Amino acid sequence: MTPHIDTQVCVVGGGPGGLMLGLELARRGCDVVVVEQSTKFTRHFRGESVSPDSVRLLDQRGLLEEISARLDFEETRRFEISDGGRRVLEVDFRDLSPTGYLPIELPQQILLDVLAEAAARHPGFTLLRGSSATGLVEEGGRVVGVRCGGGQDGGTQIRAALTVGADGRFSRVLRQSGLAHKKTPLNRDVLWCTLPFPDTWDRSTVRVRIDGDQHALCLPTHPGLVRVGLNIPKGGLKEFRGLGINALRSRLSSLVPELAPAAAEHITGWNSMMLLDIFTTSVPQWSRPGLVLIGDAAHTLSPVLGQGVNHAVIDAVTLAPLVARALRSSDRSGLLDAATQRFQHLRSPHVEQARKVQLAQERAFSVSSAPAVRVRQGLYTLIDSNDWLKRRVWRRVYYTLPAGRRHDSPIPRHSTPL
Ligand SMILES: Cc1cc2nc3c(=O)[nH]c(=O)nc-3n(C[C@H](O)[C@H](O)[C@H](O)COP(=O)(O)OP(=O)(O)OC[C@H]3O[C@@H](n4cnc5c(N)ncnc54)[C@H](O)[C@@H]3O)c2cc1C
Repeated sequence: MTPHIDTQVCVVGGGPGGLMLGLELARRGCDVVVVEQSTKFTRHFRGESVSPDSVRLLDQRGLLEEISARLDFEETRRFEISDGGRRVLEVDFRDLSPTGYLPIELPQQILLDVLAEAAARHPGFTLLRGSSATGLVEEGGRVVGVRCGGGQDGGTQIRAALTVGADGRFSRVLRQSGLAHKKTPLNRDVLWCTLPFPDTWDRSTVRVRIDGDQHALCLPTHPGLVRVGLNIPKGGLKEFRGLGINALRSRLSSLVPELAPAAAEHITGWNSMMLLDIFTTSVPQWSRPGLVLIGDAAHTLSPVLGQGVNHAVIDAVTLAPLVARALRSSDRSGLLDAATQRFQHLRSPHVEQARKVQLAQERAFSVSSAPAVRVRQGLYTLIDSNDWLKRRVWRRVYYTLPAGRRHDSPIPRHSTPL
């Protein structure tokens, strides 16, 4: 007989969304099993920029303090764009923030460790590391759990009142759910590398350098490094590699001359580079009976303004109280399905708003003709000169939670923070 575990909620994926959901449910007294295929939370390059709304949610739960006990992270105070060698847009987040919270740069491993440890303090929480969900278990048209891979007897089955797909941008749960979805490749891919941080730069500024249809993103990372993302045409890695490593170094050096010496010394081969395949995924319905998707599985976003972690975290914080309430009722299945629909109703307008801003920036990145570049530069300059516009653009992405200042009181145990 196949071994099985019974729980109230089974979450597939222990990324920021899945672990935050595990924590939020467990602290409300629910039983939750998080299935995570990797045995460690080591993640290279990914999910380091954490948006102010998520920073605030972490702070409200005392988790920012736990993070700062492990890492002296820095807040990002400034953001600047140079286009064609001229600085066209500068933003000081301290002037825009309605809450006092700023973005931070944080290796994802630390965030995941802190979330997993906080969740493990609650008796209802179980994290199954090194366990991969291989299929959904369905009965009478309802998802009632997942099958996990491995084992002589065909692996373990986890049976749950609600199954959550938090398994990221290549979600197997989404593929197996039968839910309609559309993957849209964007015009670019990004090659990431890390280099020593230039002495002449301050560590609280994120820099974007653009020239025609080429650009470089420069984000501070740990320890004492800069995380650099260079665009290449969609699917163009093979062709780009064919030009040789010197072409990569000179592309980077012409966009960011301050990094030329470090590029010459430290970019020695393609192994030090990591490719981010850029696409977005739209899923019109995030749930079906017994199943809901969160985070990248429900809405893979472009990397513009680092929104992936943010939306995964806010999804979790929004979904948990709705699910916890439904689990306490006698008509559990009906109320769970209503809760997952309500969750999408609350969250999708914010996701779509962020996506809209991101796609506008994706289009701006891809123009190359001289007139179109001039229009782009003009737009950046216009935003730069108008504080109202600056606030409008950034607040639509960075500050979407209802008002509340820094160090506002922690969210009480059974309340709905959104
Ligand atoms: C190179 C790169 C850089 C990025 N930089 C940023 C950034 O700076 N800021 C930002 O906000 N976002 C960034 N992102 C996006 C960000 O990492 C994601 O949006 C975010 O992590 C989504 O969280 P999630 O919990 O939905 O999914 P994920 O973080 O992808 O977590 C999914 C988890 O599910 C697990 N999993 C998958 N399949 C299974 C299975 N079948 N069974 C069990 N477990 C499974 C995976 O191992 C993983 O741990 C970046 C992404 C990449 C690839």
